[in-house]
Amino acid sequence: MPLYEYYCSQCETKFELLRSMSRSDDPAACPNGHNGAQRVPSVFSAVSKGAGGETAPIGGDSACSTCTSSSCSTCPLA
Ligand SMILES: [Zn+2]
Repeated sequence: MPLYEYYCSQCETKFELLRSMSRSDDPAACPNGHNGAQRVPSVFSAVSKGAGGETAPIGGDSACSTCTSSSCSTCPLA
């Protein structure tokens, strides 16, 4: 079963949960008992596992570190 990361906005806690893929986007209960924790998109994980195998560096020490574009060709800061 895949491991997913969830974030509870009520107590600002991140936690991981083993879930079936079909339930991965359902709201989860956090370790402190709050319901409605949302899954953290996998792009924020340390390793991005794209189906195409394409990887893009996340962050950096330039102005691009705040850019949310996946490619500089679509970067609004360029
Ligand atoms: Zn919570």
